[in-house]
Amino acid sequence: MTERHIHAQPIALSIAGLDPSGGAGIIADIKTFTAFGCRALAAVTSLTFQNSSGVYGAVHQSAEIVSNQVLPILKEFRVACAKTGMLPTREIIEDVARLFREEDLPAPVVDTVMRSTSGFPLIDEDAIAALASELFPAARLITPNIPEAERLTGLEVMDEEGMLRAARSLREMGARAALIKGGHLAGDAVDLLDDEGHVTVFRAKRIEAGMLRGTGCMLSAAIAACLGKGMSLEESVSEAKRFITNEIRKAVTE
Ligand code: PLP
Repeated sequence: MTERHIHAQPIALSIAGLDPSGGAGIIADIKTFTAFGCRALAAVTSLTFQNSSGVYGAVHQSAEIVSNQVLPILKEFRVACAKTGMLPTREIIEDVARLFREEDLPAPVVDTVMRSTSGFPLIDEDAIAALASELFPAARLITPNIPEAERLTGLEVMDEEGMLRAARSLREMGARAALIKGGHLAGDAVDLLDDEGHVTVFRAKRIEAGMLRGTGCMLSAAIAACLGKGMSLEESVSEAKRFITNEIRKAVTE
């Protein structure tokens, strides 16, 4: 194997879908990694067709095409942090989990992407179970929103108490840490982190941002970037939340 170059900037890898309009997916991840001073690498799991009005379709890549993108870059670069976004099929999830197990990759932040804000499915129904069984054990953190946490656990999440129960259930399913994003609940924006049983609640004033897209992508990329810079998970989530709140504020005043 070729010797890897050591770079001063942390190298961050995203394995996710391409949203050509740049609102979400890999382009949002690359912008976020760059904003945190990381060098960005990316592999595409699905070519989607979309703009800010909605998603019109998607061509999912094969697992082989995904690993064919990742393996050459791993020969050249030492990856400091990684995240996964849209992983649309069971075979991609299985292969990405194998990459994390077998290659010299840091445990990723897994964003459990299931649907676009507009309602388009971004994962096959029969692949959702594989997310938990294959990828959760390989992840440093999973970042479901409330509908995703409900789908994964079968629990109903109506409040903070429900978020806590869902996080515990996700850890029982194999996740080391879960960040439940409370954006879908009314009131303040509350996110709950359960890291190996240590629970932290992050509160921020809700900013009405309408249909601002890609916030989940940016949040998980920002957390991964902070982990790559050596911060603890709690610090990383806190720093990433500050970044997203600022991005939402900028989008609202633009
Ligand atoms: N498109 C891609 C490729 C994504 O990865 C995601 C979310 O992760 C979305 C669309 C959905 O973004 P939004 O919820 O902002 O519509």
